[in-house]
Amino acid sequence: MIVMDLVIRNGTVATVSGGAVLDVGVEGGQIVQLGGTMSAKQEIDAEGMFVLPGGVDPHVHLTPPRTGPGLDSWADNFEIGTRAALAGGVTTVGNMSFPRKGEQMSEGLKRDVEDGNNNSLTDFFHHPVLLDPDLEALEEIPELAMAGHPSVKIFLSFKRFDRNVDDFLRAMRVAAQAGSVVLLHCEDAALMGCCGELVREAGLTAHRHYPETRPVVAERIATERAVGFCEISGAATYVVHLSSQAALDVCRSGRARGLPLYVETRPIYLHLERARFDEPDGAKYAGAPPLREEHDRDALWAGVVDGAVSTVATDHAPWTLEQKLDPALGPAELRQGMAELETSLPMLWSLGVALKRISLNRFVEVTSTNPAKLFGMYPQKGCIAPGSDADLIVLDPEEKRIVDGSKMHSAAGYSPYDGWEVTGWPKFTISRGEIVAEGSTVDAAPGRGILVPRRPFERP
Ligand SMILES: [Zn+2]
Repeated sequence: MIVMDLVIRNGTVATVSGGAVLDVGVEGGQIVQLGGTMSAKQEIDAEGMFVLPGGVDPHVHLTPPRTGPGLDSWADNFEIGTRAALAGGVTTVGNMSFPRKGEQMSEGLKRDVEDGNNNSLTDFFHHPVLLDPDLEALEEIPELAMAGHPSVKIFLSFKRFDRNVDDFLRAMRVAAQAGSVVLLHCEDAALMGCCGELVREAGLTAHRHYPETRPVVAERIATERAVGFCEISGAATYVVHLSSQAALDVCRSGRARGLPLYVETRPIYLHLERARFDEPDGAKYAGAPPLREEHDRDALWAGVVDGAVSTVATDHAPWTLEQKLDPALGPAELRQGMAELETSLPMLWSLGVALKRISLNRFVEVTSTNPAKLFGMYPQKGCIAPGSDADLIVLDPEEKRIVDGSKMHSAAGYSPYDGWEVTGWPKFTISRGEIVAEGSTVDAAPGRGILVPRRPFERP
């Protein structure tokens, strides 16, 4: 019998066939054995705990889209953000890679791959952002897909989209051919521009009017278009951070017609509602889209339960409280995004699995298996099976913590859930066989993370 590197004993293991009490054997960074006799140099006793595949968060922002004097950017970089990720049980992140002015996607990607190689604590991948669908960019989509980057992000929320819909649609046809997944930010630019003007003209200057500048109708209309683009182009289409019941209904009907259409939602839309903006420091909850109503939140939970929602991803893009509450900003100008990598999985466990709203299987699917499949990394990532990377969470379902963002890893210094009691936290986070976090203490070197090789999209 070989002596393995690590064995995790007596935990309830979330395998592809469901939860079972099994020992997990790890050797050379991979899972090599489930159940049976084994011995190892290092052992973890996981009695009473759950052993889950490490989180795959396919939507984070850890590289600045632009730099220069007077331009500020998110509080977390690759190192800080991935440290927060490991403390929260996320072992792989998918970062949005923005080309800068005059750059092609491949150039931005080169810089961001280097950034990840030098600084990431987790394994990582990048989605190149398509800002300008010129001929060169259209040629790059299949090249990048072949080179292991089979995804591309498009913003319907940018005015440049409406100025050039034809070419963006061409890009989607090219993506369909290349097996590249198209990630779409679905909010209608013109409607939001108009709503911003209406709010300004009505003299509404308080931050709490933020939701009126990005109403549900702007999301619904853009989502309708996204579904149409998916249908005509044939591209696998991934709607990022969907926030409303109306937009979810649009996607449900597209999925019912058999389209390769997938929905991501974000923790804030599962846990918070629009009324938060009426708090004195409500601007700290600003994300795009804004928080919605209770019925929207309920519809998204129903989608997580029944499969209409494929993934729960953070869109981690934090700012400090001072930046969020900046009084110089009008309601249409608030800085969007917040820190969620350290709380995303524990919150979904606490308010989902622990409350019996979602099953263990659904938790694993939306946090790990589905993103790994959609973005071409399964079964290297996204499951607990022999041959897969030993990316694991040993989760203690009894551990209660009060969220305090000032003590967490993100440089934001606050969490939108400050003061919430959350039950169920990672006791150990393991990445390719290494114990990289114990509780919230992270012990991992920047640059240990590797770029995950990805395959073109295959329909699950
Ligand atoms: Zn984003």
